[in-house]
Amino acid sequence: MGLLECASAASVWRGRDYYEDKKVKNLTEISDGIFTADVIGTASEPYIVNLDAAHPRKSTCNCPHADGKRIVCKHIVATYFTAYPEEVIRFHQECLKAQEEEEAWEEELYDRVQAYIGHMKKNELQQALLELLFDGPEWQFERFVRDHDLDEY
Ligand SMILES: [Zn+2]
Repeated sequence: MGLLECASAASVWRGRDYYEDKKVKNLTEISDGIFTADVIGTASEPYIVNLDAAHPRKSTCNCPHADGKRIVCKHIVATYFTAYPEEVIRFHQECLKAQEEEEAWEEELYDRVQAYIGHMKKNELQQALLELLFDGPEWQFERFVRDHDLDEY
């Protein structure tokens, strides 16, 4: 599993910010894929990160969130991005792709719902509309009342 998959989404985004803000100092490659770095965090002293890119869970950071817990925190993510800047680009591309896929899926879903509604019978439509109005948010009901002339009924 890649390092980013071991971290929470929040840690990945915060780690990206730390990378962009250049909070990773003294990055040193000890051996292939093993790095050490100081990361400026909220404490007065920088946190000490040991990054193991091949075995993300073996990475360590002495911040309160990750210390001794095998957690891939934002400081480890920031160190990873600093050591492998091309991964930042890949991460952004994947986010963009995921967003595009979600939008395409939503469009497809919209088309399907529209097609389905087109085939519903009148009593089914009436039932569905009633359910939406009574189970939906208050503003929806109020808007329906406002937009339709109910006085005659
Ligand atoms: Zn940390």
